[in-house]
Amino acid sequence: MTTTLAALPVSVRSVYDEVVARNPHETEFLQAVHEVLDSIGPVLDAHPEYADAGILERIVEPERQIMFRVPWVDDDGILRVNRGYRIQFNSALGPYKGGLRFHPSVNLSIIKFLGFEQIFKNALTGQGIGGAKGGADFDPHGRSDAEVMRFCQSFMAELYRHIGEHTDVPAGDIGVGGREIGYLFGMYRKITNRHESGVLTGKGTGWGGAQVRTEATGYGAVFFVQEMLAVHGESLDGKRVGVSGSGNVAIYAIDKARQLGGLPVTASDSSGYVIDEAGIDVDLLRQLKEVERARIAEYAARRPGARFVEGAKPWTEQIDIAIPSATQNEIDEADAEALVAGGVRAVAEGANMPSTPEAVEVFRAAGVLFGPGKAVNAGGVATSALEMTQNAGREHWSFADSEHRLRGIMRDVHAAAFTAARHYGREGDYVVGANCAGFERVANAMLAQGVL
Ligand code: GLU
Repeated sequence: MTTTLAALPVSVRSVYDEVVARNPHETEFLQAVHEVLDSIGPVLDAHPEYADAGILERIVEPERQIMFRVPWVDDDGILRVNRGYRIQFNSALGPYKGGLRFHPSVNLSIIKFLGFEQIFKNALTGQGIGGAKGGADFDPHGRSDAEVMRFCQSFMAELYRHIGEHTDVPAGDIGVGGREIGYLFGMYRKITNRHESGVLTGKGTGWGGAQVRTEATGYGAVFFVQEMLAVHGESLDGKRVGVSGSGNVAIYAIDKARQLGGLPVTASDSSGYVIDEAGIDVDLLRQLKEVERARIAEYAARRPGARFVEGAKPWTEQIDIAIPSATQNEIDEADAEALVAGGVRAVAEGANMPSTPEAVEVFRAAGVLFGPGKAVNAGGVATSALEMTQNAGREHWSFADSEHRLRGIMRDVHAAAFTAARHYGREGDYVVGANCAGFERVANAMLAQGVL
């Protein structure tokens, strides 16, 4: 995916040029760095001490990068070798925290972009967590449970030495859900001989997992939409909600949008999308995607009135609220224009960086409310932090209590982004607001802790 990046303000250009020189082919990582550097000019002007302490030069360089071999044997007895990653990007605010992604597209650029985003997202949650990301270029699709288990065990046989409840706490992302976290946790426990609950989040609720962690990213995204709309005296009531993806984020965004009076009409996967004018049946979607691990076309086959559109994205449908929840760069300029032409009111990024920079420009120019992933999808990692808190205190909070806390955190995340944008003269620009608010928190911690 190639995107055109606009010229940066002079104050940050040399830092960006250095990042390009050091990481020349890492397009997704460069895109993520560019977006942050493009936003934080006002913060740098207000804090000349950041430049003296080299905050920018340090924040764009991971504290530690780990790459490792993951050998495993498939069901036919054939030896396979994948590449594993853990990028420990920044620990100024707390232990490294961020998910693991298992997907064939995973490479160093993808993991670094995700790790970089995670620094500011985690700062926005206010939960005292640093930023990291990891994963492997392993494709769990079509693999048996036994193969996934052996892969997870081999992955953890290396990763265990780099993580710990006070060091680095991985969780899920694309391709890593409850099943994988179970196998990873089991292997960590066996190797270390410690039942160290807080070393991973997204665990089963029967053995240390937090209530609402499964639902948190999707629920949180919809709570963020509520907040954006409320600023303008609007609500979700009767709004058509277009969701892409059909994984953990999409399923629970659809679920919560429906509970709050919206009409979620789409879901998708890499083969196409479904449109269901009666509203997506979340139980059917869950059954197909989480239990049967089927393709999205199966939804239309089993649901009267629903239609499958092959090889296309849902953005040409008439949508009031778009929640892209599939993957990075899934909304390009043409998709954004189609959404604007269809009268979209708000776009909230459930996935990490699903809009290209050109798409974001289209939304900005059209006055669409635009919530960037690092604010909108922060509810997932925030609830992971709640899981860590419960593990540390050997506590288990109820679903209602946990959802109430998530609701409060998303209100705070929105307020932090909104207030920072207003403070720096860019009211309504959540990209600038989220980046400025998140950056400021990390930069202040780095400043206080010295040159490390
Ligand atoms: N992978 C999720 C994210 O992008 C969650 C990370 C976590 O819970 O640590 O934020």
